Amino acid sequence: MRTSHISIDPAMRRWLNDVRSYVPPVGIGEVMRAHAVGEVTASRHPDFPVGTHVFGDFGVAEYAESDGEGVTVIDPALAPAPVWLGALGLPGMTAYFGLTDVGGLRPGDTLVISGAAGAVGSIAGQIGKLMGCRVIGIAGGPDKCAWLTDELGFDAAIDYKRGSIDAALRTAAPDGVDVYFDNVGGDILDSVLGQINVFARVVLCGAISQYNAESPSPGPSRYLSLLVRRAKMQGLIIFDYTDRYPEAVAALSNWLRRGGLIARTHLADGGIEDFGDTLNLLFDGANTGKLVLQLTHNP
Ligand code: NDP
Repeated sequence: MRTSHISIDPAMRRWLNDVRSYVPPVGIGEVMRAHAVGEVTASRHPDFPVGTHVFGDFGVAEYAESDGEGVTVIDPALAPAPVWLGALGLPGMTAYFGLTDVGGLRPGDTLVISGAAGAVGSIAGQIGKLMGCRVIGIAGGPDKCAWLTDELGFDAAIDYKRGSIDAALRTAAPDGVDVYFDNVGGDILDSVLGQINVFARVVLCGAISQYNAESPSPGPSRYLSLLVRRAKMQGLIIFDYTDRYPEAVAALSNWLRRGGLIARTHLADGGIEDFGDTLNLLFDGANTGKLVLQLTHNP
């Protein structure tokens, strides 16, 4: 399989720490774990003839060998290859199951999303609108906020780098928050916890603000809101939903085909030697939409 595009994910930073997690750490000298798409160039497998476009856990590599286990055939006619790493890939499915399953999102709910202009967040907000919710995104900078409201149809966007989140959230969600989809953790999580409603659901999808921390960070000081509001906070790992991926892909591709979903990709051109610099773009907030390393140097 010749790789054309590699998914660049915040979780990769955590996989480099030698700690117990939901997957083993990537050891020194091992190929970096990564999802990627590409084209089969040689095959003895009847399900994956030469020329088939595939998605899988192929690592940061120009070519990968596989027995077919965990490999999915993708249809480039439905969407370009990078979209299979974003809206139709793990980020899209994370947004889908995080909201419909963990978050129990219902029409009429007020939904708040952090990291809202990123791969997962931008899809989560659009699903929220498609499901008839009031959607508020939290993101860094005026351009990202304008994209959320003007192009993706969010009801409001809060620039967390400018002014108080507490005050902005009180204005954007005067009736409180029913579902909070958290991608960033830290102070933003703490702020939103202060404004959750009775029986609210907090979906712990990620905590990018903590991934480079060298010591454990303090817990959210407003956690007692969960008790007072009888709310629940639950973690989500997308790999638990492997058996249900087809359900999510069917829903997401249907929305995409009907024009209800905008799948923005941030392509970084280069070779596998550019992996480290490309990963850092996520922590600088340089990406809007799904960050993908496009292998322009692949021989
Ligand atoms: P994004 O595309 O959202 O990229 C990361 C974004 O995070 C940046 O663009 C930046 O946006 C924001 N960010 C970076 N540093 C900070 C900070 N200190 N405080 C606040 N925001 C920050 O990445 P993904 O959509 O791929 O991932 C989003 C989250 O979802 C991550 O936490 C990831 O680990 C998690 N995830 C979890 C999965 C699961 O199974 N639980 C599966 C997939 C992803 P800005 O400019 O707005 O600051």
